[in-house]
Amino acid sequence: MQAATVIAFDQPLVVRETRVPSPAPGQVLVRMEASGLCHTDIHAARGDWPVKPHPPFTPGHEGVGIVQELGTGVTGRAVGERVAIPWLGSACGTCGYCVSGRETLCESQRNTGYSIDGSHAQWAVADARYVVPVPAGVSPSEAAPLTCAGVTSYKAVKVSGLRPGERAAIFGIGGLGHLALQYAGIFGAETIAVDVTEDKLRLAGGLGATHTVNAARTDPVAAIKDLGGADMAVVLAADPHVLEQAHASLRRGGRLVLVSLPKGNTMQLPIFQTVLGGISVIGSIVGTRADLAEVFRLHAAGRTEVRYETRKLEEINEAIEDVLSGRVDARVVFEF
Ligand SMILES: [Zn+2]
Ligand SMILES: [Zn+2]
Repeated sequence: MQAATVIAFDQPLVVRETRVPSPAPGQVLVRMEASGLCHTDIHAARGDWPVKPHPPFTPGHEGVGIVQELGTGVTGRAVGERVAIPWLGSACGTCGYCVSGRETLCESQRNTGYSIDGSHAQWAVADARYVVPVPAGVSPSEAAPLTCAGVTSYKAVKVSGLRPGERAAIFGIGGLGHLALQYAGIFGAETIAVDVTEDKLRLAGGLGATHTVNAARTDPVAAIKDLGGADMAVVLAADPHVLEQAHASLRRGGRLVLVSLPKGNTMQLPIFQTVLGGISVIGSIVGTRADLAEVFRLHAAGRTEVRYETRKLEEINEAIEDVLSGRVDARVVFEF
């Protein structure tokens, strides 16, 4: 089979022939139909983060495909079923986080395409308990971006406690932001899309944004304050300055949700405004299996629209360059 493999952090990925893996006890073997390219894959391939993966490895954690074989002891999954392989490859299942519905905080978790081989390959094995069934009516190429970009933006809106009638500001209308905007609308909020390109703002308008703000032309803080301030702001742009703008755009009692991971790793937090304004700053990391099932159900019900473009796996290095240079508006999905 073909797999896109990281051989070393300072080299391009190599798409090479390798053996189809066999499912170990508790695993399923999945024939991949689609695999989305997440920014995390690029950080993984370059060893950008403090905890590094160990080359050689195959990145990819937006994998969607058909179960072809069950390892011994697998229950609840069936051959022929379409499943998604998410970032949370497995967790311990017994710690306080796991048993209280917060498995994405498990300290013993394993991450797909990072600490275990991922989905940028024709075949992959995955822990049967952590794959999520893809309902009929959700195509593989739409399910793939929903498996990380979708569930991550959905969870960010969920943890903000957004309520109907509140005002939500979405900073960065890309692969995650265009979905966060739609989820904020589903939660009943008035939505403000903030970006620096007109194309993205037009997309946001088409997806139902109540207001759009071009931060390249207007001060987004002033524009959002003019509307009364945001009750919730979620930041999908990897720029600490944008985080600071999002914080400043909140009204009293507002919640700032951090999702993107800027390289510099720090932002300025004005303590006075945070304390007097009763502002909450919340970190949100992907979502649980239950969150992903909800994301799929919403999509199957026609409530969300997914923007993506397709590539071949052999084009993975070009796709990475295109993502890094901002030439890609939507999620890149490798189709098999
Ligand atoms: Zn991801
Ligand atoms: Zn656990």
